Amino acid sequence: MKAVVKMEKGYDHMVYQDIPEPEATGDLVKIKIAYSGICGTDLHAFKGTYGSTKPPVVLGHELSGIVTAVGPEVTKIKPGDRVTCETTFATCGHCASCRSKDYNLCSNRKGIGTQVNGSMAQYLVIREESVHLLPDNVSLLSASLTEPLACGVHASIEKGEVKKGDIVCVFGAGAIGQMVAQVCKSQGAFVIIAGVATDTERFEIALKNGADRAVDQTKEDLAEIIKGLTDGEGVDISFECSGAVPAVNKALEVTRRKGTVVQMGVFSDELVPVRTDLVLHKEICYKGSRSQKPSSWRKSIELLAAGTVIPEKIATTIVPLENWREAFDSIMRGEGVKGVILCNEDLEGK
Ligand SMILES: [Zn+2]
Ligand SMILES: [Zn+2]
Repeated sequence: MKAVVKMEKGYDHMVYQDIPEPEATGDLVKIKIAYSGICGTDLHAFKGTYGSTKPPVVLGHELSGIVTAVGPEVTKIKPGDRVTCETTFATCGHCASCRSKDYNLCSNRKGIGTQVNGSMAQYLVIREESVHLLPDNVSLLSASLTEPLACGVHASIEKGEVKKGDIVCVFGAGAIGQMVAQVCKSQGAFVIIAGVATDTERFEIALKNGADRAVDQTKEDLAEIIKGLTDGEGVDISFECSGAVPAVNKALEVTRRKGTVVQMGVFSDELVPVRTDLVLHKEICYKGSRSQKPSSWRKSIELLAAGTVIPEKIATTIVPLENWREAFDSIMRGEGVKGVILCNEDLEGK
């Protein structure tokens, strides 16, 4: 089968080549991949700046497809099923995080697209526990973005505890910021999305998908706008989805007393100057949200089925597998929101 393989550490070292098809042994499910989303971590893997990537490995962990074979220990999933899957290939199974199904926090977790072969290929195998059946009304294109959606669900609902009537501010208009904005809208919040001048196209997409206000901070004063919208109190929840230090400090500034700031963006340095005085004096709950876990996936599938979140609306670049590099280049140039690879052309539009 064809696959996009990161051959060795360092910048690029990526090739499109034939590799053997994986086999559905044990509890593994074999999926013929329809679409594979390109994640920020795939770009880091391309650049050689993502420590978790263990080459040689097929990149990609955001996918949808059709089951073609199942191992002898598989009990529920069967060939022909339309599916998506979590990124977990294996966990240690016995740590405290595994016992509470917080698989995102197991330190011995193995994920697809980093430690084991991922979804930028025609086929992939994954344990049955990670597989989710798709409702009939959900397109394979939207389903391939269930993983970033689940990250948005984990941050918005499970960590931010967003509720109807909340006013929230999302910092960053990339794929994750867009998913957080859509999930918060689905829960009945008023959503402000904040970014910079290069986000113009992304703002338009966010507004088209329900965000209430977009703020280009190079042209408008975000703090003043939020004061006006909240009687001077500040927003209930801020989501930092940009990984920029000024954004987290702005988030702490514009969030109300006893409000919540959820950190999703990854900073390039371990140690960064954060306004802890604001955390203290406003009693802000500043918390981290790392990827997603099984409960986030179940909630995401519910939102997809209800049609209140439609992830395919952020897919701005779609290319066939052999043209993977074109999509990587375009996203790295900052164009569009989300790049998606079509891995088997006969599954296009299904
Ligand atoms: Zn991802
Ligand atoms: Zn564990």
